[in-house]
Amino acid sequence: MDIVAPQKEIIDAIKAAGGDAFKSCYQCGMCDTVCPWSRVSKFSMRKLVREATFGLTEIDSEDIWRCTTCGKCPQVCPRDVQQIKSGVALRRIATEYDVFAGGASPIPGVAASLRAEGNPFGEPRAKRADWAKDLGVKRFSEGMEILYSPGCYLAYDPRGKKIVKATVEILQAAGVDFGILGTDESCCGESIRKTGDEDLFRKLARQNIGALIGNGVKKILVSSPHCYHSFKNEYPEFMVHFEVVHITEYVDQLLKEGRLKLTKPVDKKVTYHDPCYLGRHNGVFDQPRQALACVPGLQVTEMAESKKNSFCCGGGGGRIWMETPKEERFSDVRLEQAAQIGAQVLVTSCPYCITNFEDSRLGRADGGASIEVRDMTEIIREAL
Ligand code: SF4
Ligand code: SF4
Repeated sequence: MDIVAPQKEIIDAIKAAGGDAFKSCYQCGMCDTVCPWSRVSKFSMRKLVREATFGLTEIDSEDIWRCTTCGKCPQVCPRDVQQIKSGVALRRIATEYDVFAGGASPIPGVAASLRAEGNPFGEPRAKRADWAKDLGVKRFSEGMEILYSPGCYLAYDPRGKKIVKATVEILQAAGVDFGILGTDESCCGESIRKTGDEDLFRKLARQNIGALIGNGVKKILVSSPHCYHSFKNEYPEFMVHFEVVHITEYVDQLLKEGRLKLTKPVDKKVTYHDPCYLGRHNGVFDQPRQALACVPGLQVTEMAESKKNSFCCGGGGGRIWMETPKEERFSDVRLEQAAQIGAQVLVTSCPYCITNFEDSRLGRADGGASIEVRDMTEIIREAL
C-alpha cells in the first residue's frame, strides 16, 4: 500500500489538491444509489469520500479512478460534496506520485501522446487534417461564419471519420461558411484534466487558445460534448470567451432557420442517449430531440433513464482510455436498455459514447446485428 504521508498530512494534501468539500459529507449514501457503478460492481463513492475525510486514501487503489464524472451524484448530494472536483483532487495526488493503479495504467501513455502530438492516440499532428482531404473543407480565415473543431476522435478514429464526413455534408448542404484549424488544433484537454493532470490540461488549453485567438476565431462549432464543456466552461479560466455551439444545437438552429431541409424518410425506430457532458453537465437536452423530430419517417422513443437521469456510457473522466472489464461496462447496460424498448438504432452525439456503444454492440450475442449505433449527424445526413 502506497501511503502519501501520515493521515493528517494526507488530509492536508487532499485539501490542497482541491478536495476540501469531502469534509461536508455526512455519509447518507445517496450518491451510491444513483451511481451507475451500483449496477455493475461494488464501487462506492460514499466510501471513497469517507476514506478521504479520515486521510485513509490509498493512491494505489483502483477506486480513485472509477468515477466517470457522469454528474449524477452531485445532483442528489445534500451536502454539496462536489464529488467530481473532490475526486479529481485524489487523482492529482496519484498523478503527482506517478501511481496509476489497475485499469488506469494506460494514462501515462495517453498523456505522453497528448504532450508530443496533441492527441491521445499518438498519431502524428501532421495527419490531424487528413480527414478533410477531398471533402472541400477550407482552412479557417477571419470573417468566416464559424470555426469547426472536430476534436481528436473525429479527426483520427476510423469510426469518427464517418461522423465528421456526415457533419461536413450537413454544413455544406446548409451553405454554412466554415473552416478548420487543421494541424493547429490540439486536444481540448477536458478528459486528461479529469485524470488529475492539470499541467497538461493547461498546456493544451494554452496551445488552443493561442491558435484560436491568432486566427481571429469568435465562434466555435464542436462535435464532442467534452470539447464543448472545456471551451465553454473551462477556457474562461484563462480570461478568454468564445461562443461555443454543439453540432446538435447548430443543426436544430439550421432547421429552424430553414437553411437545412430534410426530405428523405428514415423509416427507423430510434432512441436518443444523452451524453453526460452535453446533457447533465450543460443542459442540452431538447435540441437533439427537436432535430430528430424533423426527420421524416423517424420514430423516436425515450428510454426510461433519459435527460438529466441519463445512464452514463462509461467514457467520461478519462475512463475512455482506461481498461474496464466487460462485465463492468456501463455501455453494455445502456445498449440493452435501448434494445429492450425495441429501438433499431441508438442515436447519440458524443464520440466517447459512440466508441463505447460500438464496442458493446459488437460484443452482443448476435454480433451487433439487431441494433445500430449512430451519431445524430449520420441520421440527419441520411435525411438530406
Ligand atoms: S450524497 Fe453527499 S453527503 Fe451523502 S454520502 Fe454521498 S457525498 Fe456524502
Ligand atoms: S459522478 Fe457519476 S460515476 Fe462518479 S461517483 Fe457520481 S454517480 Fe458515480
